[in-house]
This record gives sequence, structure tokens and C-alpha cells, in this order.
Amino acid sequence: MPFATIRKTAPAGAPPARLPDYAAACRDFDWQRARAQLDGLPGGALNIAHEAVDRHVAAGRGGKLALRWIGKDERVRDISYAELAALTGRFANVLAGLGVQRGERVFSLLGRVPALYVAALGTLKAGAVFSPLFSAFGPEPVQARMGIGEGRVLVTTEAFYRRKVAPIRDRLPRLAHVLLVGGANLDAVGAGGLPADCLDFDAAMQAASPRFPTAATAPEEMALLHFTSGTTGKPKGAIHVHEAVLAHHVTGQYALDLGPEDIFWCTADPGWVTGTSYGIIAPLTNGASMIVDEAEFDAERWYRILERERVSVWYTAPTAIRMLMKIGAGIVRGFDLSRLRFMASVGEPLNPEAVAWSADAFGKPFHDNWWQTETGGIMIANYATMDIKPGSMGRPLPGIEAGIVARGVDGRIAEITAPMAMGELALRPGWPSMFRGYLNEPERYAKCFADGWYLTGDLAMRDGDGYYWFVGRADDVIKSAGHLIGPFEVESALMEHKAVAEVGVIGKPDPTAGEAVKAFVVLKAGHEPSEAMRKELLGHARQRLGPAIAPREIDFRANLPKTRSGKIMRRLLKARELGLPEGDLSTLESDER
Ligand code: ATP
Ligand code: MG
Repeated sequence: MPFATIRKTAPAGAPPARLPDYAAACRDFDWQRARAQLDGLPGGALNIAHEAVDRHVAAGRGGKLALRWIGKDERVRDISYAELAALTGRFANVLAGLGVQRGERVFSLLGRVPALYVAALGTLKAGAVFSPLFSAFGPEPVQARMGIGEGRVLVTTEAFYRRKVAPIRDRLPRLAHVLLVGGANLDAVGAGGLPADCLDFDAAMQAASPRFPTAATAPEEMALLHFTSGTTGKPKGAIHVHEAVLAHHVTGQYALDLGPEDIFWCTADPGWVTGTSYGIIAPLTNGASMIVDEAEFDAERWYRILERERVSVWYTAPTAIRMLMKIGAGIVRGFDLSRLRFMASVGEPLNPEAVAWSADAFGKPFHDNWWQTETGGIMIANYATMDIKPGSMGRPLPGIEAGIVARGVDGRIAEITAPMAMGELALRPGWPSMFRGYLNEPERYAKCFADGWYLTGDLAMRDGDGYYWFVGRADDVIKSAGHLIGPFEVESALMEHKAVAEVGVIGKPDPTAGEAVKAFVVLKAGHEPSEAMRKELLGHARQRLGPAIAPREIDFRANLPKTRSGKIMRRLLKARELGLPEGDLSTLESDER
């Protein structure tokens, strides 16, 4: 059953959306002009931390809530913009006191605790480069990333240090200082194994002045080092500059409909790019109040937070939405979510079934949007005022030129304009948050660009209305009996079956078809794997997709291998199916085969 377009009509009394007229905005948008929304610093300098924090204080908005932190035990800590300015000033002074220079890398390995946010913005204030690591990484992934990034300072906890850093410390020759958050047992220096360069974060902060003149960084100076999710292979270190803040700011308004009156909750961990671009920077530059929850996913807790904190804009990911769907819509209706105005999703394709489910369960749909670590900010989105075609990623942001491209017979990359023709999704370089390199991998970076396009590595189609439809990663697309099959289409069809909670689809070598489609299915509670269920799902898929595209085989799994950011790792499903090497597993969440 195809999914009906969700028409947008603003409810009576609703505040005007920040992108009331998409076509007009696309026509009139100009990055140069948008820059007037930022302060900048004297002499043409630009610093993310100033735009996110200090300028609000200077404008008399220091008393406003910047961040409400909710601890695992539901303890709450509120931090105003003024307090955040002071804390980040202290941290910048701590770094200066340690002799950290402009452009040197400061890593964090922390859960979602206030110190993480202070370290991020304080590092930027000091003119150093911030690189967040996901706290669940073990020693090897930590070593690999800090090695590439040549981390000079690490902010972590004593427990993480002992478990994850001490075993690889001798392989981090550039690491000069470790700041331990939350009570370090420094008395044990020497005896207990904590080296003398481990310092107590809290004591260092206490001793530092809250005043720090924000570094007058040039817009093109490196600000952030983000590692990709590792879905397709070894993670790459994407370089972002201070200028990126312009894109964070504008896309926050346009794609997330975010403004100063909003209470915003981005559920992503700052260890991934979403958790920094939209979990720290965009809400603050836009003067919103943001919620940070230390705990991991828990449906009831999430609904409770949405209700109690009166969250108005919520940004999450398909993996979480699928878990909410698995639990069912009944529970949603037990909460008062009337404050929730806008819901968005990123990170993986959002199945049309999930959009339809949310429209039913919440009375408003999730808005899918697309971007990558490399793009630094949202590039294609469904907007508050634009009709949603479930299953589509939406349309390019004002100021972003996207295209569907392919290599022609002359060997050059050129745009394909026919509606719904499949090709590689490409973007015209030049937007502010575009990555400026993969650290230490200039050739790999250069390969991403050809004939005036940035090539994303994703395959997509564009319909006659200019909406983009995700097909799959170039690596995941299946070639079967002359058809190119995107795993997303097959997965979405299976997701429509009431027994299905999650699906990953791969191509398996086949002597006649080239590749045959195979699906790995996780069932919802109350449904058991059986031959009858397999037949039913195969029949359902064949009816929905036709025999050429429907899976030939279905296996049942208790769960699917995923990255720690929640993305299904199809390459791993495939490697295991075919008995091939599993490749880089540094971002694999522990899974059950
Ligand atoms: P790696 O590059 O290391 O293999 P990754 O590509 O998963 O990992 P990210 O930069 O975190 O790392 O993810 C970006 C990718 O996620 C996109 O290229 C795309 O494949 C996928 N993605 C993100 N948002 C969407 C979306 N809305 N629809 C479909 N795919 C999406
Ligand atoms: Mg990628």
C-alpha cells in the first residue's frame, strides 16, 4: 500500500514556522547575507563558542536556561547561558594554563555529563580543536582516533581512564594531559597507577578564572574533528572549521524549526556529529534551551521527559523510532505531549511505515532529514510547512544545491535530471559546514570531489516535485537479474508487516541472478520465528515488491549488528553470511548473532 502524502496545514494559533515559504527562501537565500545573523568577532574573526554562548550573555540574555541536564537518577542540573559562559571561560583558562595552543586537539571520552558540554565549548573558546569520543568505545577505538587526531589533552573519568586509556597510554605519545571528571583518586598517583599528568578536572576548574577572551579564530580555522560512524569501513576523521556555525545556525531554524522560545531535545550522543552540530551548537546559537539526558534509551523515560520538560522540538533517529514502534502507540497516548511541535529524524533511512506510525501515535509526523559527518549539517529535509511524502528525505536546504549524478561515457560526472532516475546523491561544494578534509588522508578527500560536485557515496532518486528518495549506500545496492535494488525499499516493504520490528537486507551472490536479495528480520514481541512466518513474509514482500525485487531468503535474528550510533551494518550481515573478513568493528555495538 503506498503511503499517502501528509498535507501540512498550520494549526490555528500556531507560531509562524521559520521557513514559511520554501520556494521563496531557496530563491532568495544567500550565505553571505545569512551571516548577519551571527555576531562575529573583531577583525573578521568567528568563533563557534562566542556565537553559541557569550553573545547571548552580552545581549542581556544570560539568565536564560541554556542546558537542563537530567542525570541517570533523574537528578537535574540547570545551567544558564551566563553560567555556561563562566564555565567555558574557566575551561579555556585551564587549557591555556596547560599550554595548549591554537589548533591542538582536545578529546573527550565522557558520558552525557555537563563537563562534556563545558569541555566542548571551552575548547573552542580557547581556539583549540574539539574531538568527542563515544564513551562506550574500548581501548582500541580510542587509540585509533586519538592517534589520528594527535590528541594533546583528554577529558575523561578515572574509571574510563583506567579501563580504556591506561592500556594504550604508551601508544599515545602526543597525549600530554588528562583531566579526570568527577572525583579522581589522585592520591594514588604512582602507587595506584595514575600518572602525574592526570589532573582533577573539578579542582582545575575551581582554580581557573571564569573570564577568558574568546580566541579570535579565523572562519577557516579548524574547530572540530568528527569521526564518521564506521558503517562502511574504518572511520574517517572529518575536519570542520568555525565557519560551520553559520550552517548549524541556519539549518537549525529551517530544518528543525528551532528558535529562542523552544525547548529542544536532541537524543544523539555528542560522540557523533549529530550530537555536536544539533546536540550542542545549533540550539545554543539559536538561543533555545536544550535538554540533555544522561541515560540510554528507555521508552517510558523518554515520554516522561518529553512531557515533563515540555519539549517543543525533538530530534532523534530511526533506530529509536523503531524501538518506540515496537513498544506500541498505546503508551504514547498516556502522556501529555501537547507542547511537542516538531519531530525530526536522521542517521538512517526512515521507513514510510515509521512516518505513518508517528502521525497516528503522536498526531504529528516525524520529519526525515539527511546529512553526513562530512556535510557537518542538514542538507536535505522535510520542513514544518512542506507536505511530507513518507519515505522521502525531503528537499535541499535553501543555500544547498543537490543533484543526482552519474559518470557519463566521457568519464565525467554529470547530473541526471529525469524524475526517479537512480544515481549518486551529490552536492555543490561551498556550504559553510562542508568538511575541509579527512585528517591525514588528502587523497581520500580529493576522491570525494569530481567535476564540480561533492559525491556523497549514497544513491538516491529525485521525483518531479524535487523530493529526494534514498536508495541505499553505493556499497549496499544489490544488482539482481539486471535490476538495481536498494535495500531500503525492500526493508520498508517488510516493515509494513505487523510482525516485523526491524530488517536488514543484503545481496548474496547467485549463479543466475548475479545477486539474490536476502533479508534478516527481527520480529516484534509476541511473534515467533517459524516456517509459516517465513512463508508469510516472503509472500507479503512478493506481493508488495514483485518477484524480481522481493527477497529470495529470509532469516530470523534476535537483533541486527549496528553501529553504536544505531545504524544497521549491512556490510557485516553480508560478511558473516558469506564467511568473509568482518573488517573494522570499532564502532560495532555488541550484538547477538
Ligand atoms: P562511514 O562513513 O564511516 O561508513 P556513516 O556513513 O554511517 O559511516 P555518518 O556520517 O554518521 O557515518 O552517516 C552518514 C550516512 O548515514 C549517510 O551517508 C547515509 O548513508 C546515512 N543517512 C543519514 N541520514 C539519512 C537519512 N535521512 N536517510 C537515509 N540515509 C541516511
Ligand atoms: Mg559515510
